[in-house]
Amino acid sequence: MNIHEYQSKQIFKEYGLPVPNFLTANTTDEVLASAKEISDTNWVVKAQVHAGGRGKAGGVKVTDNLKEVEEFADKWINNNLVTYQTDDQGQPVSCILVEECTEIKKEFYLGAVIDRSTRSLAVMASPEGGMDIEKVAEDHPEKIFKVFLKSPSVGNEDHLPLAKGLELSEEQTKEFKDIFRNLVKLFFEKDLSLVEINPLVLNGSDNLVCLDGKINIDSNALFRQDEILELRDISQEEEKELRASEWDLNYVSLEGNIGCLVNGAGLAMATMDIIKLAGGEPANFLDVGGAVDEKRVAEAFKIILEDENVKAILVNIFGGIVRCDVVADGIISAVEGVGVDVPVVVRLKGNNSEIAKEMLGKTNLNIIAASELSEAAEKAAEIVK
Ligand code: GDP
Ligand code: MN
Repeated sequence: MNIHEYQSKQIFKEYGLPVPNFLTANTTDEVLASAKEISDTNWVVKAQVHAGGRGKAGGVKVTDNLKEVEEFADKWINNNLVTYQTDDQGQPVSCILVEECTEIKKEFYLGAVIDRSTRSLAVMASPEGGMDIEKVAEDHPEKIFKVFLKSPSVGNEDHLPLAKGLELSEEQTKEFKDIFRNLVKLFFEKDLSLVEINPLVLNGSDNLVCLDGKINIDSNALFRQDEILELRDISQEEEKELRASEWDLNYVSLEGNIGCLVNGAGLAMATMDIIKLAGGEPANFLDVGGAVDEKRVAEAFKIILEDENVKAILVNIFGGIVRCDVVADGIISAVEGVGVDVPVVVRLKGNNSEIAKEMLGKTNLNIIAASELSEAAEKAAEIVK
């Protein structure tokens, strides 16, 4: 789950990480009132969306002019902000962060993420912070410094390789030590999967300040993170993905035109791979999970079909615990009930799959039965050609 920058900064504050003074506002009047309260001279106003890249897209404004603050609020509130991290619709803006302006001497990057290959928490820092960290990682990987922590307890010197990489002075290194320790504490206590501070800056008085904050929380831990769960903003979530999650369907929309309906996340990934191998492009990832009942299959079809790009659907079900004939029945009813108007290629494998195939072959619906996954993928790719 993602949260907004202002929410991340609130949490940073609770963990003793230095952030500038800020307020949030939802109307132009409120933005202006907040600006006057925060500073007499300089402001930063920032559109709050669950996406980065706002700076380059005009979603961040640094100014010493209240008129510009007002124009910024008028421009963004109730509008969508499109950045390179959003889709081409962008994300709706309903909240503006109003912050005192920080003088920037240097911009750093600081982040932490679970690194599965080393089974540790990777804390990363770069002296090349600011807006283009992805580019730094690509072009100058040697400018990203990493520390791998095997346990939540932070040693006295764990922060040093990063402080050195950032070329911090002795005084700054002391500040950085606290930031490092508190960031790791926050990461574990709040069950994060990622935290990024980009930029972490050296301000006019040579102190470190977090100017941006991005936090992802591991969704599997939300059952024990009540406070975080309250920060959820569903206006920022994709409508179809949201509805899918209400039906316990794991749906992620993609660019292609072959809709996928699969049981099991691993099988869904393999299905997408094989579609690509057959020269097709998957329109989505969709894992219906263990219970393949008619209602959920019907809902899955509906969600897939809302994507106008979908020209064919590939159903790939492995019947282990569920019997394929029961699944076939569910698919037939769902296709009938929902009124699926594109060809549906169905591959059922496992328990009673022969009976299922026969059932599918007998209907007058636009269902094409396949035995093997490669065959199914080829048929689907052929249809959309
Ligand atoms: P992002 O583009 O979505 O990552 O948004 P950021 O919060 O990182 O802001 C983008 C850029 O705006 C930063 O990299 C800074 O260069 C600039 N910026 C943000 N806050 C301030 C500030 O208080 N003072 C100054 N001078 N620049 C700022
Ligand atoms: Mn940023």
